Amino acid sequence: MAHKNFKNIDKTVFGRGSFDMLDEIIAPVRKENKGFFLFVVDHFFVGKPLEKRIPVKENDVIKFINVDLHEPTTEQVDELRDEILATNGLPSGVVGIGGGSVMDIAKAVSLMFTNEGSSTLYQGLNLVKRPGIYHLGVPTISGTGAEVAMTAVLTGPEKKLGLKCEWTPFNQIILDPELTASVPRDKWFYTGMDTFIHCIESEYGILNNAFSNAYAEEALKLCREVFIGDNAGQTPENDDKLMVASMMGTLSLTYSEVGICHAMSYGLAMVFHERHCYANCLAFQHLEDYYGDGVREFKTMLNKNNVILPQNLSKNWTDKQITDMAHVAYNLPHMWNHAIGTDWKEKISIDTIKDLFKRL
Ligand code: NAD
Ligand code: ZN
Repeated sequence: MAHKNFKNIDKTVFGRGSFDMLDEIIAPVRKENKGFFLFVVDHFFVGKPLEKRIPVKENDVIKFINVDLHEPTTEQVDELRDEILATNGLPSGVVGIGGGSVMDIAKAVSLMFTNEGSSTLYQGLNLVKRPGIYHLGVPTISGTGAEVAMTAVLTGPEKKLGLKCEWTPFNQIILDPELTASVPRDKWFYTGMDTFIHCIESEYGILNNAFSNAYAEEALKLCREVFIGDNAGQTPENDDKLMVASMMGTLSLTYSEVGICHAMSYGLAMVFHERHCYANCLAFQHLEDYYGDGVREFKTMLNKNNVILPQNLSKNWTDKQITDMAHVAYNLPHMWNHAIGTDWKEKISIDTIKDLFKRL
C-alpha cells in the first residue's frame, strides 16, 4: 500500500512571547557534538529588538541571511555547511529564525552537516542517507507552512526541488505570532495567500480525503477571517490565526497534494526568479476554470485588501521562455496527477501548459 507515513514535528510551542523559551529549550541539546549552536536569521532582524533576544552563547555562530537576493540555493547551503565545518566543526544544532526561505535553509543545512557532497545530490524524495543534526524553526511570517513541511525547497543549477525525507521536519518549532507584527502589508498578503492556495489545491484533486479536508477547511475558515472577515487586517488576533492556518494548510497538503498553480509557480521561479508566494498569486488569478469558487474568493480577497496584480505579463515573454516554464511545470507529475487525475497525460500537454502561461 502506498499510504503516506508522515513524520511530524517532534515538539511545538505556540503563543505570544514564546520565543523567550528558546534558550531553555535548546539548553539540553548543547552537550551534543562540538557544543555550539548555529543560528540562521533573516537579515531583516539586524538591529531590531529580536536580535538581542536571540540566546547566542560564547561559541555559537550567527549568520544573517538576506533572503531578498534570491530564494535558497543548493550552493548557498553547501557553502554554509562547508564553512561551519571547516571553522567550528559539527554544531549541536541549527536554529532558523525567519520566513520560508530561512526555515528551508535551516532544515537543509541540518541534513547536509551529516550527508556528504552537494545538496544537489539529495533533491528529491528519500535520497538523504543519514539523519541530520537537531534543528529548530521559528517562523516570522505566516503562510508557506515551511515550519511543518516535510521538505526543504532549494533551487539548484538544474531544478527547484526539495530535500524531502523523514529527517527533514524540525525537531521543534516555536510559533510566536508576535514576531510577525512587523511583516509589510504586501508580503503579509502574498505569503498568506500561499496558505489559501494550498488549501484550495489540496481540496480540488483526487488525493483529497477526510484528513486533508478537515485541515484545509479549518485553515480556509481562518484565512477568511483574516483577509475578508469583519475584523480583517493585520491585527494581533489575526496574526495568531494566520500562523495556525499556515500550519494547518501544510498539514492538509501532507496527506494530499498541491496542483496546477504550484506547478506553474515553479516554472515562474525557474525562468523569471519570481518568489514562490507572489508567483502563485500571478498564476492563481487565471485558473478559474480549474478552481472556480477558490479563484472567485481569491479575487474578493485581492479587492478587499486593495492588492492589484499585474496583467498581460506574457506579452513580453518569448516563446522559448514560455516553453521552458511549461517543461518545468510538466515535470511535476504528482501535481498534475492530483489536479487532473491519473489520466492527466491524455488531457495535459506541453501546449496546454503553454496556453495556461499565456493567460498571465
Ligand atoms: P521569505 O522567507 O522569502 O521572506 C519574505 C520577505 O519577508 C523577506 O523580505 C523577509 O525579510 C521578510 N520578513 C520575514 N519575516 C519578517 C518580519 N517578521 N518582519 C518583516 N519582514 C519579514 O518568505 P516566505 O514567503 O515565508 O518564504 C518563501 C520561501 O519559502 C520560498 O523560498 C519558497 O520556495 C519556500 N517555501 C517552502 C515550502 C516548504 O514546504 N518547505 C512551502 C512554500 C514555500
Ligand atoms: Zn506554496
